[in-house]
Amino acid sequence: MAFDFTDIVEEARISARALMDFSEGLFNPTLRLGVTGLSRAGKTVFITALIHGLTRGGRFPVFEPFASGRIARCRLEPQPDDAVPRFDYERHVQTLIADRAWPSSTVDISELRLVIDYQRQNGAERTLTLDIVDYPGEWLLDLPLLNKTYEQWSRESLALSRGAARLPLASAWHAHLSSLNAEAPADEQAALASARLFTDYLRDCRDERFSMSLLPPGRFLMPGSLAGSPALTFAPLEVAEDGNAPDGSLWAMMRRRYQSYKDVVVRPFFRDHFARLDRQIVLVDALAAFNSGPSALFDLEAALSGILDCFRVGRGTFLNALFRPRIDRILFAATKADHLHHSSHDRLEAVLRRAVARAVTRAEDTGAAIDVVALAAVRTTREAQVTRGRDTLPSILGTPIAGESANGEFFDGKTEVATFPGEIPEDPQTLFENEDAFRGLAGGHGEVTDFRFLRFRPPRLSAEGENSATMPHIRLDRAMQFLIGDRLQ
Ligand code: GDP
Repeated sequence: MAFDFTDIVEEARISARALMDFSEGLFNPTLRLGVTGLSRAGKTVFITALIHGLTRGGRFPVFEPFASGRIARCRLEPQPDDAVPRFDYERHVQTLIADRAWPSSTVDISELRLVIDYQRQNGAERTLTLDIVDYPGEWLLDLPLLNKTYEQWSRESLALSRGAARLPLASAWHAHLSSLNAEAPADEQAALASARLFTDYLRDCRDERFSMSLLPPGRFLMPGSLAGSPALTFAPLEVAEDGNAPDGSLWAMMRRRYQSYKDVVVRPFFRDHFARLDRQIVLVDALAAFNSGPSALFDLEAALSGILDCFRVGRGTFLNALFRPRIDRILFAATKADHLHHSSHDRLEAVLRRAVARAVTRAEDTGAAIDVVALAAVRTTREAQVTRGRDTLPSILGTPIAGESANGEFFDGKTEVATFPGEIPEDPQTLFENEDAFRGLAGGHGEVTDFRFLRFRPPRLSAEGENSATMPHIRLDRAMQFLIGDRLQ
């Protein structure tokens, strides 16, 4: 691999930072846990439920140090990085519990520090500092851009947009593109229009009807603090990969902006945030992808593979000669498992395992332990058997959010509704192979409500009772055991 000077400077900076983090860690053992996932995967809800459970004595039987009583206390402390917004835990928890509504989702990076006082298995008193870093998964999918020229990226983005599922969504952007001459003089209005149409196309792909995952550049959909800046005003052009952009041309302008996107946005994110993580959980809304059909699932698979590639960044590079990439555990978690009957939880896990399997084989040299779980950070449903004619269907009961659902039903936000969520096929492979396998999932039983249109309200927490203030969940404790259990031995 070839390196330019920027790479070397960048990697020297990363190393200096790693050294600082390392020496701090000697006196004050610290674990930086990254929480990521594409928009609406469930990051905000996951972090809120995790902190709430840890600080308020949640029910976590599989999280051994907690269940065995070795964790004496968990408390929030001011975070170390002054330039990163604080994760707004108090507001989110208030929304979830007092209002029984969902908190506002992640749109930028944020951070929160949790200090855990615990007793080691040998009896010694210790403290572990857990820094939780929440960031949009869209940004992670940008890392592969560091190795691509503008021309390569243009070619790949165009090829992707010509796939069967995406082509109809790209028509307005393609029409505009065919009116452009890449070698004509640079024109700000053309660049603006092109970037706007390209972003509209990306947004449409992300729409729940299509649920595409692989949509770089990530800041086009998740600009954070960069909305409207010139570093985001570019789009692919139809240009030869080995061609030369004439001076002053539209092509040269787009290429320069693409380059600044990498310099101003992608590299600093990698250096200041990603490269400092020790553990990573990647949340995946696999159910949304199932609902949209095989092409969304393939797209998800490609995105997961792209994400795993990021954990290899640094291998075989100058950086690696000085420091190992730090992430040593990665958990892929399918969220919102409470939308399924428990008989399908293992199957949901199996589908996600299948989706990451190929990527895992390729990424074996990440040196990280990888696991997969299906979870619900906040469980909004109970289970019930509903009889339809002669069939008894394993169903779920929950309170849909007030309003009209996409299929025309009206909910008052107070009444519980029973719905048969469909079943995930026993063999995950079938989902990747044919359209029919999907029918069983979304309302396959005719008159039963199609679960994809139901969003349930967070549960009511009863004021009395043993676990009065704790939130119900599914397998959140298993996730914690994998992510931090070994550091609390
Ligand atoms: P983010 O964009 O990754 O931060 O996503 P959020 O955490 O804001 O979650 C997006 C939406 O997914 C929420 O508003 C909820 O409707 C839903 N959601 C997230 N987690 C859960 C969960 O554990 N159970 C259920 N039923 N819905 C969830």
